[in-house]
Amino acid sequence: MKFLTDRMLGKLTTWLRISGYDTVSIADLNVEGDEDEFMLKNLKDRILLTKDRTLYRKCVKQGRDVFLIESNDVAGQMRELTRIGVKFRLVMDRCSVCNSELRKPSRDEALEVIRREGLSEDMLDFELWYCEKCRKLYWMGGHWKNMSRFLRKVED
Ligand SMILES: [Zn+2]
Repeated sequence: MKFLTDRMLGKLTTWLRISGYDTVSIADLNVEGDEDEFMLKNLKDRILLTKDRTLYRKCVKQGRDVFLIESNDVAGQMRELTRIGVKFRLVMDRCSVCNSELRKPSRDEALEVIRREGLSEDMLDFELWYCEKCRKLYWMGGHWKNMSRFLRKVED
């Protein structure tokens, strides 16, 4: 499953990427003109996720794959997607910021980020992942634990 998300679904977009789903947000595309029209007519290999009922109805009418998100909070939105078979889990293979695939960094790449961001060189001992586009490192740190905790809450 691949997704296109509307501007209302920023946090959900992040969680889909964390979970390994290829997810494009309309907010990341520089669409000239009407965004609803764009989402209706483009990237049709992706399921459109939207909170907009009017857009949802238009999509249904025109046979565009679409799923209406009803909940306002991200945990509720994730539960709605679980019902259509989306599995939320911590997969380290996609950048949560830009949707690019992650890979292992070279030592030089890791060091460059560590120095630029003022991180400790002890980081080199961790298992690291790297986004080439954002030049950003990912690792299973404290943030990871918070995310696991949040996921368990969503599953309850
Ligand atoms: Zn990135």
